[in-house]
Amino acid sequence: MKVCKFGGSSLADAGQLNKVLDIVLADPARRIVVVSAPGKRNPGDTKVTDLLIALALAATEGRNTDREFGEVVERYASIAADLKLGEDIVRQIEADLKGRLAKAGELSAEEFMDLMKAAGEDNNAKLVAVAFAARGKKARYASPKDTGMILKGSFGDATLDPDSYATLSRAFSNFEGIVVYPGFFGYTRDGKVATFPRGGSDITGSILAAAICADVYENFTDVDSVYPVDPRIVPSVRDGEGIATMTYREMRELAYAGFGVFNDDAVIPAVRARIPINIRNTNHPGEPGTMIQQSRRVIPGTVVGVASADGFCNIVVEKYLMNREIGFGRRLLQILESEGISYEHMPSGVDSQCIVVKEQYLPKEVERRVVQTIKRELEPDYVTVERDFSILMIVGEGMCYTPGMLAKACLALASSGISMSMVNQGSSEVSFMIAVRRQDRDGAVNALYKAFFS
Ligand code: ASP
Repeated sequence: MKVCKFGGSSLADAGQLNKVLDIVLADPARRIVVVSAPGKRNPGDTKVTDLLIALALAATEGRNTDREFGEVVERYASIAADLKLGEDIVRQIEADLKGRLAKAGELSAEEFMDLMKAAGEDNNAKLVAVAFAARGKKARYASPKDTGMILKGSFGDATLDPDSYATLSRAFSNFEGIVVYPGFFGYTRDGKVATFPRGGSDITGSILAAAICADVYENFTDVDSVYPVDPRIVPSVRDGEGIATMTYREMRELAYAGFGVFNDDAVIPAVRARIPINIRNTNHPGEPGTMIQQSRRVIPGTVVGVASADGFCNIVVEKYLMNREIGFGRRLLQILESEGISYEHMPSGVDSQCIVVKEQYLPKEVERRVVQTIKRELEPDYVTVERDFSILMIVGEGMCYTPGMLAKACLALASSGISMSMVNQGSSEVSFMIAVRRQDRDGAVNALYKAFFS
């Protein structure tokens, strides 16, 4: 059985929704269909979720909500009209929205906001179920409440209560036909609607795939596959050059450094349950997409992708005989811990220690405090913070036990006149990190891509 999730761009209008129906009906194993709210029809358009946020704000502030309300209804009404679904579903959606709006006074602002945001997915799932029926195919809307999608944590940033897996699995233990399930939200134990972070329909799909032990979690989006490099940096990378398979480890390493196809947090449930994840394109359903799984056949000496991310800084600490000073590293990291800063990498020398940190965690006033504390508590010879680094991640299970991978990267960068500021490789050998100055990022990514992929 397959769980397939369709993002907002795959459901933005009737034309897109028709493609979704075709895809689902083409494979009888596609039994659970998780939907987002309708997304942008063109770059200047607004997602239904954003329209709902504007509607919620207008209601909370006591403003007239007619315009915002009309904009939301119109998005569904135009899809229903184009697909000739009849007026009933539109009236049902209107009534649903009015019912939610009526709760503005009863709920806290954040509870009300989540109730409104969830309307995008909830009503879309109902509409998609009607669209299946219009094609003469039985599909049933399933509610996160009835199936036991229990969330905890903060509104707008909720997480799954792990007990839900058992309930969800029971709810889907014996069902017939196709189920259309709204993404992005669930319910708290006391019955309030709560949403995952933005983009959270991916999380819903991943949870359901794990709960029912799906054969595969298909995540339909608008790219043919995951590219081995960011096409905005290397425009020559072509459709046919997408990654066919990668392992969860490779995905995690690439997503860490900015591979933006999906959020790696979202797929944690599927990864933990070892469900293969297939990234596919709604607009090109014939393309096999990228399969992400526990293991794959690797060709020694190959790389799966080169990722890059900006916005890193480097805390440099030097002290003569540092290597003999027991507890130096622990005390240094404790200073960061007490400021609530997590670190990314720690390349070191005999008497020097670098700590690579995301710049967002080290604004100037925090930097001053951290540097002062390091001076006071560790008495280093030198401490400074260098800013504006980009990190490059060269990733591939095929690099393990293959001599010369780092040498190849170094040579490529040297030939392009790019100096490496830091290098870090763990013993897993599945990736290594090279930090360069931000202005060298594009040149470095291009040089590495050429070295490893041409
Ligand atoms: N509709 C929600 C959003 O725009 C969730 C999703 O699409 O996954 O963030």
